[in-house]
Amino acid sequence: MALHKIKTKERDELVGNIYGSRDFDRKVPKYKIPKEEMPADHAYALVHDMLMLDGNARLNLATFVGTWMEPEAKQLMSETFDKNMIDKDEYPQTAEMEMRCVNMLADLWHAPNSAETIGCSTTGSSEAAMLAGLAMKWRWRKRMQEQGKPTDKPNLVMGINVQICWEKFCRYWDIEPKQVPMESGRYCLDAEEAIKLCDENTIGIVGILGTTFTGEYEPIAKIDKELDKLNKKTLWQIPIHVDAASGGFIAPFLQPRLKWDFRLKWVKSINASGHKYGLVYPGVGWIVWRDKEELPEELIFRVNYLGGEMPTFALNFSRPGNQIVAQYYNFLRLGFEGYRRVQQVSQDVAKYLAKEIAAMNIFELLSDGSDIPVFCWKLKKEMSFTLFQLSDRLRYHGWQVPAYTLPENLTDITVMRVVVREGFTIELANLLLDDMKRAVHDLLKGDVDGGQKSGFHH
Ligand SMILES: *Cc1c(COP(=O)(O)O)cnc(C)c1O
Repeated sequence: MALHKIKTKERDELVGNIYGSRDFDRKVPKYKIPKEEMPADHAYALVHDMLMLDGNARLNLATFVGTWMEPEAKQLMSETFDKNMIDKDEYPQTAEMEMRCVNMLADLWHAPNSAETIGCSTTGSSEAAMLAGLAMKWRWRKRMQEQGKPTDKPNLVMGINVQICWEKFCRYWDIEPKQVPMESGRYCLDAEEAIKLCDENTIGIVGILGTTFTGEYEPIAKIDKELDKLNKKTLWQIPIHVDAASGGFIAPFLQPRLKWDFRLKWVKSINASGHKYGLVYPGVGWIVWRDKEELPEELIFRVNYLGGEMPTFALNFSRPGNQIVAQYYNFLRLGFEGYRRVQQVSQDVAKYLAKEIAAMNIFELLSDGSDIPVFCWKLKKEMSFTLFQLSDRLRYHGWQVPAYTLPENLTDITVMRVVVREGFTIELANLLLDDMKRAVHDLLKGDVDGGQKSGFHH
């Protein structure tokens, strides 16, 4: 949903005869549906040209989302644009692919019995978070009702650094967010602080594998250990949900010995974004529960015209099926070893860039890409320019490298972050470094208004 305001004053502004093809000489209203038809090639040219000024996705180091797929994957996707995911009756093979992907992920994340798990695809990790959160809320409410206790004050424990989807979940479903703030030198959730915030109204703890602010892994195993003690003492049965939007497709390949997943007792559900390090174009996420009991029956709708057992649990109904096809393609095409290799390359580039940026001597790394291939840095000390200005300067060269402030209690710290994805090569990394060095040089000379005096470099 785009929440654009309707531009009433400009309603009738027209586009036309400056765009498109030579024989296109008609004006088209911008904010009203045109009265007449136009030939397909004209419409194509208009839309195509309008998109020209969108950014170049390969130079966007802000997003985590996949911007490159193989020609064969693209071909499969375009062959399957018309498949509606929800029509499992009509497209049983697409549904089968979804099930296989869920099982593969359950296995990858060490579910005790991957054939006994339950899970589904979603539009992304945000929808997955809503579903996981709802399951935790329902389970908590049932536990409380069984003990005759009130169920009007559920809360969710997490770090202040959670992705916005968790704040959304809390607001949309009336849950009190209980957030552990950051502290100097600690940019993610702390196990002891998290445990301190738990009470009998806690529906769960969210731990993040690869935080959006710094790319670090939160200490899931430590949280699990502390939570086990608390749950034993109180009989509260608080579960952990791991938001592994990025890390779910990194840790199994690059840090296989790290215990963050269903190997831990209280980890009951995990989400990941297929369209991040799952290497699929935008539009697919995954949620997997440890076992069937973790997903309350009441939340599952059964579509009776299928004959079989085809449960659905989703916020949307209709949804493109082709992203699931693409995810399944990637699993077959790359296999474990292929994923490992792709992610290793991204991590090597991230670590290299982090090292080189640290070597510029004016920056201090907060993370170095050794968890997910994401790292961030701040200015070592106050300088004559800000990271916002540096970010702006890089923008002139087409790079999108965001600068932002950290959340409480570190709102006075500004950082810059790079997300390395497949397709970001050492060559591109070196070009970025060159541009950064030049930008810093110019900024230090006091040239903050961007390239006017020194000219564009390329
Ligand atoms: C990206 C991200 C999300 C949201 O995922 P979408 O797939 O974009 O909906 C949630 N949590 C974390 C940690 C993320 O990195």
